[in-house]
Amino acid sequence: MPLHSIVLAKQVPDTTDITPRAMKADGTLNRSALPAVLNQDDLHALEMALAVKDEHGGTVTIITMGPSAAADILREALYRGADRAILLTDRRFAAADTLATSYTLSAAVNKIKTFDLIFCGREASDGNTAQVGPQVAEKLGIPQITCVDQICSLDGGRLEARRLSDEGCERVRAILPLLITVISDSNEPRPPAAKRLMRFKKALTPGEVKKRIGAEGASDQMFESRCRALKDRGLLIEEWNGDDLAIDPSRCGRAGSPTWVKKIERVVLTGGEHKSYPATDEGVHQLMHELMEEHTFG
Ligand code: FAD
Repeated sequence: MPLHSIVLAKQVPDTTDITPRAMKADGTLNRSALPAVLNQDDLHALEMALAVKDEHGGTVTIITMGPSAAADILREALYRGADRAILLTDRRFAAADTLATSYTLSAAVNKIKTFDLIFCGREASDGNTAQVGPQVAEKLGIPQITCVDQICSLDGGRLEARRLSDEGCERVRAILPLLITVISDSNEPRPPAAKRLMRFKKALTPGEVKKRIGAEGASDQMFESRCRALKDRGLLIEEWNGDDLAIDPSRCGRAGSPTWVKKIERVVLTGGEHKSYPATDEGVHQLMHELMEEHTFG
């Protein structure tokens, strides 16, 4: 039977190139100062959702909460095979911590109503808390399996997955609807399909249409007709704000965040003095003894 999957994906700064300009004085990320990419774990989550669609049919909807520029990762997901893309964007969502982020995301899932599976990355490469997925599952009152690297079986409304942990791996079974967080290296994300890329590179959010026609000085009627034309061709990326989600503004964004990032420091570990030990039993014994003495071990 066809399955309807939702992928929650985050646009993150390209952390391979963090400069001091990355953070604003108030401890929030200066997202405009860094190139932004689709979070790596989420690419694997998208691939797992697309593989479920290949096998069982159904649809894949991708949702991101972020600034209007986050529409870029939605287009990227459409190139790879997603069927529907939704941008949650509203000033009231900004500077959210994971509690407020998960509240807003779960409100969007509730608006979609029917789904069988939600796929998240295990963690975002900038905040690294790995809290949002589990918090969304809690708010929706659905089971969750975290750190999944493989779906072992999926039929009759039951899923069995393999999850990796520090101790090894476990096979866990759950009933749908279910939230899964996916680890990197769990699969080989498919590349964007050329035909889909040619088609969906024209996909825009209403905010992007507004910006474009604003620059042309066109009228509001022009805006309506442009959006209708895009929608008719399946090229309008949906954009939901706080009013569309009917949420409690005191529970999203900075207002709904009991935690905030105070400061971020660049920690560069430099090599200090070093000591060498002979590769003999005595040498190794001496090394272990000193490490134990310094409480590096044990
Ligand atoms: P994670 O919980 O690591 O993300 C897990 C998964 O949730 C992602 O792979 C993705 O599938 C989904 N997801 C996360 N955010 C979104 C989104 N915006 N749209 C769609 N899907 C999403 N907030 C805290 O509450 N506590 C902290 O300790 C904390 N530390 C931070 C440290 C740094 C350096 C930065 C830049 C931010 C920090 N934040 C923290 C803020 C945090 O980035 C936001 O709350 C963010 O929206 C979710 O937290 P995360 O990035 O840790 O996501």
